[in-house]
Amino acid sequence: MVANMFGWTPVNSGAIYTYGGGGCWTYGLKYGLTRVLKDSREKGVRTDAKVICSQQAHYVQQNATDWLGLGMDNIVHVRTDVATNQMDLVHLEELLTDFAARGIPVATVVCTMGTTDASAFDPIGLVREVMDRHPNPEGFGKAVLYADAVVGWSWIYFKDYDFEANPLEFSDRILPVLRRNGEAMRELEYADCVGIDFHKVGWAPYVSSCFLYRDATEFESIHRRGADAYLQARTPYNPMYYTLEVSRTASGSLAGWATLKYFGKEGMQAILGGILETKYYLYDLIRSHPDMVCVNPDDTGLITLFRVYPEGVDAQVQFGRELSDPALRSDLIKHNHLTEAVGNKLFEWFRSGKQIDGKYTPYMSFSTGFRDATYNRDGTDEEAVVYALKSFPMNVFITPETMQWALHCVAAARDEVLKR
Ligand SMILES: *Cc1c(COP(=O)(O)O)cnc(C)c1O
Repeated sequence: MVANMFGWTPVNSGAIYTYGGGGCWTYGLKYGLTRVLKDSREKGVRTDAKVICSQQAHYVQQNATDWLGLGMDNIVHVRTDVATNQMDLVHLEELLTDFAARGIPVATVVCTMGTTDASAFDPIGLVREVMDRHPNPEGFGKAVLYADAVVGWSWIYFKDYDFEANPLEFSDRILPVLRRNGEAMRELEYADCVGIDFHKVGWAPYVSSCFLYRDATEFESIHRRGADAYLQARTPYNPMYYTLEVSRTASGSLAGWATLKYFGKEGMQAILGGILETKYYLYDLIRSHPDMVCVNPDDTGLITLFRVYPEGVDAQVQFGRELSDPALRSDLIKHNHLTEAVGNKLFEWFRSGKQIDGKYTPYMSFSTGFRDATYNRDGTDEEAVVYALKSFPMNVFITPETMQWALHCVAAARDEVLKR
């Protein structure tokens, strides 16, 4: 079902349920190591092959490179575009040209199709073209293109929504956004392998992560281990021969299957679109608060990142300057600390069951640096980064009133923090 949605040929593709989006990333890297460093399964990883991902890729890149023995120093970060948070293709091309010139192979390129903080999508179709122009040096296999879509995958449901007839009656505000997200997911077709988490924007219980590969014959044969006397292949499905896991639970695959069957395409479209309407309501609401500013206005996922400033500050103007003017570095840092303090205050209230006007306060997380200041594009200045409060609505019962209440509590937490 999922391979069909990706536009792959289902009978040629395969899938494994594994231990989280982290497991999927590890599989994506392992596939690259096995394909590129052809004797690595016998001799071990003895070449410093690179794994390339964007500055905004998930931190599980560290688990995967560390535990597979490639080493974290072999992670290479591609810059992200300041407005869209997408992988910068010019920088990617520079890196690939340089590695090829120096005889260094790339094992896997990871496109994050929905980043954890900003829900940005890397332009994977164009990444595929760049990779095709810069193959690995002689003697090494072809690099694998892995799509980390664990949190963003469900936008695939809008790949072939009828935007003209609009049967689910989404607003004009979100229709172009749904269309863009569906189009971004259309490009999953170009990946060699994709990770999706049903336990994220699929509303299934932990852990139900699916690692999918387009060419089952290749994946399953290059990872193949020999038969043992006590293994009998009774059916065509024998993951014990080519996966990391030995004994495993079926709960993830059942949860994934049930999710696909129970919601169906339309059910998933209704849920996602409904929550997205509320996200854009929040965008507009933030704009009506002069002391607040949305800091990822161009991102099209469910996440809103925003900052709250002391009362009387024009947040839009102040943030614009903090983002780009090195002279305001200390302001940026001061307001990062304010953001963190507000986030911690909200968490403290949430945990202690605090009520304001008889109502509970929301749970809201925050990011301690979802992007760098524009004058700090290589990230060398660890403090010149942007902190932000994070709204990630996942509840189908979320309403405009919920969002009004959330901002009311944010302002109250800000006042509490600043009252010394
Ligand atoms: C959450 C996340 C992961 C890790 O997935 P788990 O299921 O928590 O192991 C990896 N990549 C991205 C983009 C994520 O958002």
